Amino acid sequence: MKFTTLAEADAALTAAVACFDQTRKLSSAERHAILTAISAGLQDQREAFAQLLCAEAKKPIRDARVEVDRAALTFSLAADEARRFGGELLPLDLSAAAVGRMGLVRRFPLGPIAAVTPFNFPLNLVAHKVAPAIAVGAPVVLKPAEKTPQTALKLQELVHACGWPEAAFAVLTPETPQEIGHLLADDPRLPVFSFTGSDTVGWALKQRATKKRVILELGGNAAVLVDHASKVEHAVGRCVVGGFAYSGQVCISVQRIFVVENYFEAFCADLVARVRALKLGDPADETTDLGPMITEDAAIRVEQWVEQAKAAGARVLLQGPRDGALLAPSILTAVPTDQPLVRDEVFGPVVIVEPVASFDEGIARINASRFGLQAGVFTYDMRRVLQAHQELEVGGVIINDVPTFRSDAMPYGGEGDSGVGREGIRWTMDEYTSPRVLVLSA
Ligand code: NAD
Repeated sequence: MKFTTLAEADAALTAAVACFDQTRKLSSAERHAILTAISAGLQDQREAFAQLLCAEAKKPIRDARVEVDRAALTFSLAADEARRFGGELLPLDLSAAAVGRMGLVRRFPLGPIAAVTPFNFPLNLVAHKVAPAIAVGAPVVLKPAEKTPQTALKLQELVHACGWPEAAFAVLTPETPQEIGHLLADDPRLPVFSFTGSDTVGWALKQRATKKRVILELGGNAAVLVDHASKVEHAVGRCVVGGFAYSGQVCISVQRIFVVENYFEAFCADLVARVRALKLGDPADETTDLGPMITEDAAIRVEQWVEQAKAAGARVLLQGPRDGALLAPSILTAVPTDQPLVRDEVFGPVVIVEPVASFDEGIARINASRFGLQAGVFTYDMRRVLQAHQELEVGGVIINDVPTFRSDAMPYGGEGDSGVGREGIRWTMDEYTSPRVLVLSA
């Protein structure tokens, strides 16, 4: 069933609310079985999902296959967590008056989940919302990005075929996306609002979602710090992947790189050489590294930011041409800190590399951002590993790799403008539920 008008969307919400009583009573064995079947279905239909992702999100086909594999793992992890989702026993006999009392704490789903997702991972980002919802027994009403609705619709088909009730996963593909986005944020019948997308839209929708549990997974301008005590060659190789995979259209794409001074020149030379060797072209071609950006407008905006930084005094280490939506990678240095390329989220194939005098300066430069999603630190010095973990104001610190790493077995989310709340199956299950204590006395 398709939901495109406001009245149809409203009917989907009503049906999801009515279905909640059914889904919350499913046993852990039933939820485990449904999630396991979805994971297996994704594996069976791997190539069909990958081709769809490649076509609608213009994602290079090799990356599209990785996305499908990750989504299968997400559902299988949620299946495990559905079995483990237990409770806690509390001793409450803390005074003479409470002798014999104990508390039993279980978490119960708050109700149906309203979910809104962006274009860049049309399968994974939907899986991150739906898999934990099934694990706790909560219906989901989802509005995927209007640029990439087909993958969500195909997943909806699979989820229903695996035994999850139809009304408990509705994908809205509205004629008026903003209006439906507002409905999902506003409607008090859906007590959880989970949004992944840009910071401007996310924070504006949070203003509307009063009296709700709100999870915002927003953008960033993720940074890397390359220390003396690291393998610089390894760091360069990872920054090529982290900065330019899917043309930088990843929330934890490497945007800012800080390298301790004496390694700076060698790092830049190696980075430029390796990025120059990346192959641009048709995303359906098995050998393509970078395909076109999602729209020509997006590519034009990124190109303008690069030109603006150059006009403000930035030095270009590499800049390629733009052909429609296909934008070749750029690498810049000495970019003034008030430039959008530093301050905002570029979400395109551009990285900035800057020298820093010390590890401490690198930490301070990373923290001088309004965002705080993840950071990558290349060092084999244990003291600096622990310092980075303690001092970086981000949701995750990735050691000896780029920030462009996400697993559903870890908490994922951001500080500052990057959002509020955490995903990662177990953590999302906590966000979707509330603890309720049962006090027992003899
Ligand atoms: P976007 O904010 O434009 O759109 C996201 C969703 O919000 C879409 O479904 C869209 O239809 C809807 N929307 C847009 N404007 C709206 C409005 N005014 N009212 C109601 N709904 C509205 O984002 P995008 O361009 O699709 O995706 C890119 C952004 O997503 C980047 O900022 C990226 O960093 C972020 N992102 C974050 C994560 C994360 O986990 N932190 C993951 C992927 C992408």
